[in-house]
Amino acid sequence: MAKILIVDDAEFLRVRISKMLGGGNEIIEADNGARAVERYKDAHPDLVLMDITMPEMDGLTALKEIRAFDPKARVIMLTALGQESVVLEAVKSGARDFIVKPFERERVLNAINKILG
Ligand SMILES: [Mg+2]
Repeated sequence: MAKILIVDDAEFLRVRISKMLGGGNEIIEADNGARAVERYKDAHPDLVLMDITMPEMDGLTALKEIRAFDPKARVIMLTALGQESVVLEAVKSGARDFIVKPFERERVLNAINKILG
């Protein structure tokens, strides 16, 4: 069982991803980058799925803060088409993978399994 932090300002996306992952994992949610950083520090999840465009603090900033707190943090970015430059910076900042929306269940599970083993 893995502890997975799902970060997206769209609730329906958090719900959809949570359903994709099934009941075998502990799911934590955050709806912006600032809350994601807080939740990460509290809960030490095994993996983070992080949206980029969010109010208060965007996903790229949150990624950098989380990686500064825990250099081993495993973060997968959830991106949209047209965000290539942000994706590149995210990878340079330590993101392990990125998933382009809209995504299929299989793509999400493959990305997670590749990282969690
Ligand atoms: Mg968003």
